[in-house]
Amino acid sequence: MVYKNYKLNLLLRISFLQISLLGLIWLVQYPQYLVTSIGLGGLIVFQFVSLLNYADRTNRMFVKFLDAIRYDDFSQTYHTRGLGKSFDELNREFNKVMSKFREIRAEKEAQYHYLRTLVQHIGTGLLVFDANEEVQLYNNAAKRLMGIPRLQSLDQLLEDFPELIVYTRENQADDRIMIKVQHLEGTANLAIRKTSLKLIQETFTILSIQDIQNELEDKEMEAWQNLIRVLTHEIINSVTPIASLSATISQDLGYLKEDAQALLAQVNHAEEESREGSEMEESLHDVHFAVQTIQKRSEGLIKFVRDFRKLTRIPKPQLEDLVLVDLVESVIFLQKEELKKHEIQLNLSIIPPDAHIRADRGLIEQVLINLIKNAVHAMEGSEQRQLNIKAYPAQAGQIWMEVSDNGKGIAPDAMKNIFVPFFTTKRTGSGIGLSLSRQVMRLHGGSIHVQSTLGTGATFTLKFLT
Ligand code: ADP
Repeated sequence: MVYKNYKLNLLLRISFLQISLLGLIWLVQYPQYLVTSIGLGGLIVFQFVSLLNYADRTNRMFVKFLDAIRYDDFSQTYHTRGLGKSFDELNREFNKVMSKFREIRAEKEAQYHYLRTLVQHIGTGLLVFDANEEVQLYNNAAKRLMGIPRLQSLDQLLEDFPELIVYTRENQADDRIMIKVQHLEGTANLAIRKTSLKLIQETFTILSIQDIQNELEDKEMEAWQNLIRVLTHEIINSVTPIASLSATISQDLGYLKEDAQALLAQVNHAEEESREGSEMEESLHDVHFAVQTIQKRSEGLIKFVRDFRKLTRIPKPQLEDLVLVDLVESVIFLQKEELKKHEIQLNLSIIPPDAHIRADRGLIEQVLINLIKNAVHAMEGSEQRQLNIKAYPAQAGQIWMEVSDNGKGIAPDAMKNIFVPFFTTKRTGSGIGLSLSRQVMRLHGGSIHVQSTLGTGATFTLKFLT
């Protein structure tokens, strides 16, 4: 269509030019029309130039159009300027192509924006760098996990994570490394995997970073539980007969002692016999005492082992909606006397006041009791004892609760072990409170972390999913 109109236009122009030329040839024969001839000659020159311009105009428009595409400038619009129907149609087609390009670009931008937001919000850390080790992408999860808010070049990691640099510069592709990172809220175990990606001419390396601390803790706890199950089973199996046999022997010895005393009272009171009799009574008494001790110790051992079994028998949490204030206040009520006795000032802050969590009331109460008891114990030598309990919404969908004290704090080497079952620094401690608490929090899909500096106190943070 465009072509047809263009051709017609050209034909018309050429025809007018021809007519003008014929007119000029005719006029040249009559000298009296000299001025008209000159005028007509001028008109012919104008028609000729205009024809050339017209023939060239489409090429110029095409060049402009292609330039716009080449330089990604899709903002141009082509106006119809009374150049004829064919040009109008050509301009309209150009405009349609431009608006299609604009549409594609907008779609691409929307898609890019969508993917970027997705990458920034996923829980897995992503770090992408090019062949010059310049960082191209570093998402929020990676920032949080690595503990480095801005990263432009891989060199910046050299000091803190030398093993990561060695790993990224090595050639093997599909293995992974594990690195430990110390965050404010505790240690994180990061599993880092690398993949190479060739895009047109450039090669990029993608590092995916995952915190597998929880998985490791779950595995560790599982191993502990298996060990405890086997040990307690064996100990109880061996010690129960010792306890019951020693109870029986102790009872029999009791009767024997009574019989011996009665017998001695009946026989004659010759001095020799009386001495032998009292020696026998004395040894009987010693044996009885020894057997009683065996019985008491083995019963004590059975009780102690049964306590440890608790670690392997945490019931499945029965989740319900709990208003945090109610939960915390009921625990404080139970500990009221203890806090008063130790002159501990309690500060409670729950934001928002109607904050609630989905949790098993009994299990979480147990966790809070453990933390409060530990805090009370840690503050024994301190002055102006303060126990702070605060809860607040943290990351999306999470409520954090902090239980902090200004007690003696935790030594760095103890810090690594406080969640390990049976680790205790107390003379009469069992070392199961914190490992039990960690298990309870894991069963709720949450976690427990500690921060402490020796001498200034400790803060335990419980992270709940809402
Ligand atoms: P237990 O209380 O029987 O020792 P836990 O598992 O509750 O067992 O605690 C383990 C250890 O962690 C304690 O022995 C103590 O050394 C340390 N601990 C726990 N809470 C605190 C605290 N608030 N301040 C200082 N140390 C603490």
